[in-house]
Amino acid sequence: MQRLLLLGSTGSIGRQTLDVVRANPARHRVVGLGARQDVAGLLDQVREFAPERVAMCEPEAAERLRGHLPPGVALHVGPSALVELAEACEYDLAVHGVVGAAGVLPSEVVLAKGRVLALANKESLVVAGGPLCALARRTGASIVPVDSEHSAVFQCLRGEDLRRVRKVILTASGGPLRAWPLERIRAASIDEALAHPNWKMGPRITIGSATLMNKALEIIELHHLFDLEPERIEVVVHPQSIVHSMVEFVDGSVVAQLGPPDMRVPIHYALHHPDRAAGPWRGFDVRSMAHLTFEEPDLERFPALALGWRVVREGGSAGAVLNAADEAAVEAFLAGRIAFGDISDIVARTLDARRGPGDAVGELLEADQQARAHARQLADALAPEKA
Ligand code: MG
Repeated sequence: MQRLLLLGSTGSIGRQTLDVVRANPARHRVVGLGARQDVAGLLDQVREFAPERVAMCEPEAAERLRGHLPPGVALHVGPSALVELAEACEYDLAVHGVVGAAGVLPSEVVLAKGRVLALANKESLVVAGGPLCALARRTGASIVPVDSEHSAVFQCLRGEDLRRVRKVILTASGGPLRAWPLERIRAASIDEALAHPNWKMGPRITIGSATLMNKALEIIELHHLFDLEPERIEVVVHPQSIVHSMVEFVDGSVVAQLGPPDMRVPIHYALHHPDRAAGPWRGFDVRSMAHLTFEEPDLERFPALALGWRVVREGGSAGAVLNAADEAAVEAFLAGRIAFGDISDIVARTLDARRGPGDAVGELLEADQQARAHARQLADALAPEKA
């Protein structure tokens, strides 16, 4: 029986993780659930899965939750609630589906305890990949990626020597604006940018799939997970989202992992790794997928993508700055304050203004705060009447 901690339980990854648990309830026991503010969602989960501890980050929401919790369930409240939950619970594996840089400190706790971190919060590695991977090496913790592309690469690399990898080819759906001309992309509305063709995800990552900033984050994530130099990372646009990524080896062989776009498959893999447990998910009929296409990404129409390689080359706090600026810019876009095209501009300009090193988690979170403030100023300057 695997003891499971779920961080971000009411979000998209959290709910799909509980689907995976429901499919094989004899194998997992949910010991902790952490959410930001969804009281009704968390209560339903508490009633169904009977965890020992829960966390709710928003204090007002936590107070509403408190009166409804069954007796004996411990509640952690406030901005450090997820960190406290990850410290207090006894678990074998943590699924981390929190969105954004808020996920960094909970990741640090799981890794410090030497547990398995099933990581969907790619920002942990984008912001603090250096110190977190070093911590995992010290404690013997392992990071199993849940991000579909990285799960694909992880599976392709099983039993392989990383020195024999010529390159990794990350696939990108291209997002809802893939075929649009530059001027229309820059003026895309919120609804247009949120209309992802293949994947069901939260709003931040969906906007990131439209700008291709999400793929820039994934380049950085890939670099940290597999110690890959930027020259060994390629991106190809694959609109069908069937080939989740590929690895080319030095002998010219290319290994790919394929499947329908369903996040429950990589979650199921991460929960059972190194086993390949039976799951209820459908495979696919190759005949129904006769048209798999691959295109070169267009860095002129999607300038955010190139920032991924730039950040890997610059190192230090560059990932923290990129991510914080993007979180702030996406927030401003979703609030109707800036244009879609401004998102990438703000992130690039915030990176240009970056100063100082960043090696420890604390320094990187400080760089995050400064970059966030800088990006907000740039957004305010673009939307003065609403500032
Ligand atoms: Mg992905």
